[in-house]
Amino acid sequence: MKKETLVTHQPQVALPKGNTPVVSPIYRSVKFTYPTIEASLGAEASAHGFDYSRDANPTTRQLELLAAELQDRDDAIAVATGMASIWLALLGNLACGDRIVIFTETYRPSRVAVRELLPRFGIEFTMLGIEDREGIERTFAREDTKLVLFESPTNPMMLVPDIAELVALAKRHGVTTVLDNTFAGLHSHGRFEIDYYVHSMTKYGGGHGDTLGGMVIGSTERIAALRRLAVNMGSTMDPGVSFLMLRGLKTYYLRYRRHSENAQAVAEFLSQREEVERVFYPGLPDHPGHALAARQMDDFGGVLSFDLRADKAQTWAFIDALELFATAASLGSTESLVSPVDLYQGGDLSAEEAAQARIRDCTVRLAVGIEHIDDLTADLEQAFRKVFA
Ligand code: PLP
Repeated sequence: MKKETLVTHQPQVALPKGNTPVVSPIYRSVKFTYPTIEASLGAEASAHGFDYSRDANPTTRQLELLAAELQDRDDAIAVATGMASIWLALLGNLACGDRIVIFTETYRPSRVAVRELLPRFGIEFTMLGIEDREGIERTFAREDTKLVLFESPTNPMMLVPDIAELVALAKRHGVTTVLDNTFAGLHSHGRFEIDYYVHSMTKYGGGHGDTLGGMVIGSTERIAALRRLAVNMGSTMDPGVSFLMLRGLKTYYLRYRRHSENAQAVAEFLSQREEVERVFYPGLPDHPGHALAARQMDDFGGVLSFDLRADKAQTWAFIDALELFATAASLGSTESLVSPVDLYQGGDLSAEEAAQARIRDCTVRLAVGIEHIDDLTADLEQAFRKVFA
């Protein structure tokens, strides 16, 4: 073989039988082959074989199976971002003439998808306050209502809807439930009869703020119903990213619990400050959803919001004065982040909608990282001193 040929047909290293790597390899290959066409068409190949990585890839499949198990379900589809997972769940379950229910208290790009983009395809929406039980019941009862997309806790104000009640109502009216479970995490809410869980794996899944990814999780049948659309739409997760997600997930529980402990301590610290009017964190006993969250959630999570006794300029000065908390909109990675809620999370809402969602220009959201708690409270302390002295 000429060396020009050799570099494209490189020597293969097969492991001896019984010799396995402790960490699974990354299958970067886009294509998979068989020695004969006959073998590629056999029962074994159709059931378990790989062909083209947009359709399926062993590394990504390993991640899908792990995510499904963490969420107490049978199957999952890994996609390129959290938003792609939301789009897949919506497009796979809605058709022209259908109606979707969404809540004001929802991640902003999800609202944009439902309010601005879905109507282009003839899919109508009703946006309600998540505490509007009567409105929910009335809209679920409509013939054309097919799906509800919701979060718990809600982004960014940390409201805690009663999941069991919402699911029971949806079931009664044949409405498909999609829970964006990004905040509560892959280990939470598995016991509820949710049809589809969607996750931004960019957050606690990857955990280090260096990978984008999404996951749709459900029963074997529900995931099978979406697979063709996912493969055809082509929003597949890259196997290199799947590998980093698998690595990140090894420390998932350690990180999630540390995020939660730190967020609890920060919430308690902020509750004592006279510059703070109100703290929104389900782990605080005076949070209206605390008892429900304590029953529903396994941990209270790493995100909290609070209102300062301040105007907008002073609020922005406080955010700018923070040194350890970087001003950015994400969450679930090792470092702490801060964001002005009305600017980052509420920009598409009318004044009435923002008021209903409790978003004010003095509202600040923290995504608490895994640093030492003393450094986090010291940073908040120095920012209070600098701005409110
Ligand atoms: N859902 C929630 C609750 C989020 O906070 C985010 C991102 O911040 C997403 C979905 C979208 O995730 P991604 O940025 O991976 O598309």
